[in-house]
Amino acid sequence: MTQTFLSVIVPSFNEEENIEPFYFALRDTLSFLQEPWEVIFIDDGSSDATLPLLQRLSVWHQEVQYVSFTRNFGKESAILAGFKHAQGECVIIIDADLQHPVEKIPALLEGYQEGYDQVIACRNRKGENIIRSTVSGFYYKLINKVVDVKLENGVGDFRLLSRRAVDALLVMSEGNRFSKGLFSWIGFEQKVIYYDNVCRKNGQSKWSPAKLINYGIDGIVSFNVRPLRFCLYTGAITLTCALLYIFVMLIEIFRTGIDVPGYFTIISAVLFLGGVQLVSLGVVGEYIGRIYNETKRRPHYLVKETSEQKERQRYEQI
Ligand code: UDP
Ligand code: MG
Repeated sequence: MTQTFLSVIVPSFNEEENIEPFYFALRDTLSFLQEPWEVIFIDDGSSDATLPLLQRLSVWHQEVQYVSFTRNFGKESAILAGFKHAQGECVIIIDADLQHPVEKIPALLEGYQEGYDQVIACRNRKGENIIRSTVSGFYYKLINKVVDVKLENGVGDFRLLSRRAVDALLVMSEGNRFSKGLFSWIGFEQKVIYYDNVCRKNGQSKWSPAKLINYGIDGIVSFNVRPLRFCLYTGAITLTCALLYIFVMLIEIFRTGIDVPGYFTIISAVLFLGGVQLVSLGVVGEYIGRIYNETKRRPHYLVKETSEQKERQRYEQI
């Protein structure tokens, strides 16, 4: 059997309008490629016609494969499943919604031929919702101050990875995966290519504001324990101030006697300390929650069916 050169991984969640246009655009782009390639769609528990479409495509086109999850496990799990099934010498991760321009794939492959293990496609945020782009810009500034890995604004999952890089990512078995951080953590030679932001034509983005906030928190707590240290320092500073205040007040009481009006001071101290304690507890809770999830060692996803299984069934029926 000839070795597959390129595996294209496509996480797809309710993308019925996009699957076919995407596949045909991809096939046209890769028509120049002499070596064998495959495209692995990961149906992340879609409730629309994504799965039947994939079943049909995989019957008609031999390079199309799919893995279908039992429910929606999230894009991170879909990417992991893609890595596990990919046979290729190099792997490209790309969205199904045509927001990642397939025309950039030759440039990614060129980078690979030049010897880079990661070729990253970076977008500008042209045409994006102004609130989302401002918040994102601020978030990346903050996160790069806090975490130990470098995360760049506009850099997403659209990238090419060599077999070595994929194998390195597969070794990391953590339950709560934050791919952006993992890609940066593994290192290797990297090249960045740029493209203009493309707005989604069909279907809707699966990122609600709440999901984005949770993803943002994942980014911060997945890669370091600095927030815990921050809580410790805040606690220490607050305690020092409180002790100083008590000391000063005691001297005052000895000098001038007990002063009855003190309502404002007491309330502010109680509220301030309460706030600091709750935030610190929340941060500690984030980490404990993660430890709890990791100790369960649950699989990242469950597979309902794959194109391979379906094909075997068809052969058995003949
Ligand atoms: N996706 C997925 N599982 C999810 C959410 C999204 O596989 O739970 C896929 C989705 O089908 C798309 C890609 O991940 O191919 C990016 O999702 P989306 O377009 O919603 O994100 P955005 O482009 O807005 O960041
Ligand atoms: Mg999108």
